Amino acid sequence: MLQIPSPKALVPFVSVENMMRLVHHIGLQPMLVGLADEIEADFRRWPVFDKTPRLGSHSRHGVIELMPTADGEIYSFKYVNGHPRNMAKGLQTVTAFGLLAEVDTGYPVLLTEMTLLTALRTAATSAVAARHLAPHQSRTMAIIGNGAQAEFQALAMKAVLGITHLRLFDVDSRATEKVCRNLHGTGLTLIPCHSAQAAVEGADIITTCTADKQYATILSDNMVGAGVYINAIGGDCPGKTELHPDILKRADTFVEYPPQTRIEGEIQQMPADYPVTELWRVISGEVEGRRDARQITLFDSVGFAVEDFSALRYVRSRIVGTEFFELLDIIADPDDPRDLYGMLQRAVEPA
Ligand code: NAD
Repeated sequence: MLQIPSPKALVPFVSVENMMRLVHHIGLQPMLVGLADEIEADFRRWPVFDKTPRLGSHSRHGVIELMPTADGEIYSFKYVNGHPRNMAKGLQTVTAFGLLAEVDTGYPVLLTEMTLLTALRTAATSAVAARHLAPHQSRTMAIIGNGAQAEFQALAMKAVLGITHLRLFDVDSRATEKVCRNLHGTGLTLIPCHSAQAAVEGADIITTCTADKQYATILSDNMVGAGVYINAIGGDCPGKTELHPDILKRADTFVEYPPQTRIEGEIQQMPADYPVTELWRVISGEVEGRRDARQITLFDSVGFAVEDFSALRYVRSRIVGTEFFELLDIIADPDDPRDLYGMLQRAVEPA
């Protein structure tokens, strides 16, 4: 068990500032690889986790969600929102924070920002899925939707899979320019494209990460050739999809947790008995992922609590011995556990 030196009831807290410092301290690409390994290890022991579809509070503006899980020893949850129209107000589409607690006492052991961490864990999860589902020796990825997630997706696929070429398209050319600026000098060959159709030409992997709270058609059937791997991360909420249903009829679809994905993923467009394979079964070697070179594989990613659990545990282990956290006084610590009233008297103002 990890020991973070702290007085009994103080909880390590990683702020946005400290998360940024931690990422640079570890190195972005090594961290993506580390997160991918952590996530893959947890997917291999999938049956031990408590699992439930995330709890969403939907409005016409977006969604606010809680994502809990536990493995019998450690409990975690993430608070995350999805508000596609936030960008027009200069705000993030997705923001998050998360918590780890020990099951035996119920005491929190880590509180952290998770907006950055969610982008990292989402990209790492995509790369884990790609390890098992993408064409052998994939080198070219198309990214449609060049917003907040895009660079992380690109760098995870580079670090974990060896992607060398990136074909980029966004309805807003400023988003594509931003990705080109940010990824300049990373060794990736960057190819801005004038349409989604142009972007997918010659791609081994197609990543869709657009944000729009509607049934959108980012990819239509004629754009998807034999043998590609589709990493669809943008459709992650009821009423929000990116792929034409005809693609799903031709593809083998892999999902995180079917009860959640059937509500939120691309497959919400399909009948309730539409066949899917759980990604953890592929990772654990129970079933085959990519069978042949012509198979279209689709990772219908919505983001699942176990990925956050893995990311939180990774962060907890990596802050040990660093200065990238502060200690928060959020747990009451009466001298006598039954004397909460007595603890209150510690703060009585002198007369
Ligand atoms: P963002 O708002 O920063 O970027 C979305 C981009 O998509 C914007 O640049 C926008 O111009 C572009 N876009 C919208 N419609 C388009 C279209 N028809 N064609 C091409 N581009 C289009 O959002 P983000 O933070 O990058 O997130 C992208 C999506 O990924 C969101 O829907 C978010 O909910 C989802 N997401 C999923 C997971 C997961 O685990 N699956 C995790 C994080 C985010």
